[in-house]
Amino acid sequence: MTIDLHTHSRVSDGTASPRDLVHAAAAAGLQVVAITDHDTTLGWDEAAAAAVEAGVALVRGIEVSTRFRGAGVHLLAYLPDAGDAALQEELSRIVRGREDRVPTMLARLRELGIPATEEALAASAGDSEVTGRPHVADLLVRLGVVRDRDQAFAEYLADGGPAFVDRYAPELPAMLSVVRAAGGVPVLAHPWGRGSAHVLDERAIAGLRDQGLAGIEVDHLDHDPGTRDRLRAIAQRLDLVVTGSSDHHGTGKTGHDLGCETTAPDQLARILDLAASLGSPTTLIGKAELT
Ligand SMILES: [Zn+2]
Ligand SMILES: [Zn+2]
Repeated sequence: MTIDLHTHSRVSDGTASPRDLVHAAAAAGLQVVAITDHDTTLGWDEAAAAAVEAGVALVRGIEVSTRFRGAGVHLLAYLPDAGDAALQEELSRIVRGREDRVPTMLARLRELGIPATEEALAASAGDSEVTGRPHVADLLVRLGVVRDRDQAFAEYLADGGPAFVDRYAPELPAMLSVVRAAGGVPVLAHPWGRGSAHVLDERAIAGLRDQGLAGIEVDHLDHDPGTRDRLRAIAQRLDLVVTGSSDHHGTGKTGHDLGCETTAPDQLARILDLAASLGSPTTLIGKAELT
């Protein structure tokens, strides 16, 4: 059984439509795939219809941008009620904050002599529902300023970079409560990758578990084998769910092929049980034999 619990469609910063993403998951031999676009549930309905067509089981989720002790931390929220008002209010605040900063980032790039106009960004971002830093990165690639998104972040867009602009993100403990109140299962995404490792030591993770954290993403390309071993041991000590995922972004990120990292069936079963016990109306679409 191949289970991939973290992928992005072009509703956020992936490159495939939700429908194509789900069909690609089926074609890649996955039995279960999760759609986890950044800060939005807008891709869910299309993905759900496609899952029925493609015969792949679908977990509906979100990757929420939060802040913890001053660092950006991504929180996967599995199977929350998309109709929950408090959850949607937070998501729209995040999305508005992200979109509000884009014009400022473009202005900073223009001050650096790069022709990063609103029009060029619109042409580059296509029909994405959420426009953010990855789209500015793609624009820098299209303009020939950098080779790829990674270089765009490293040289211009990462925290502290010359075109970085801060934005709103909810505090992680508060978001854990919002997600759980919506029936969702909160799992830390790539906790020891991308600049959040220093704020997420075992003590901090234990504290977050006491505030409702259900699991951690261990098998992720941002984690080397030693990091995975240490995180797995922490998860075991704290009785947290362990997930593994591709963090697929279509052609937007190389090396993150669908199913390149996977989650064990018993861990998915724990997530499904927890969502049900939290009273979420959102269930797994399609059948998966998790034994
Ligand atoms: Zn992430
Ligand atoms: Zn992601």
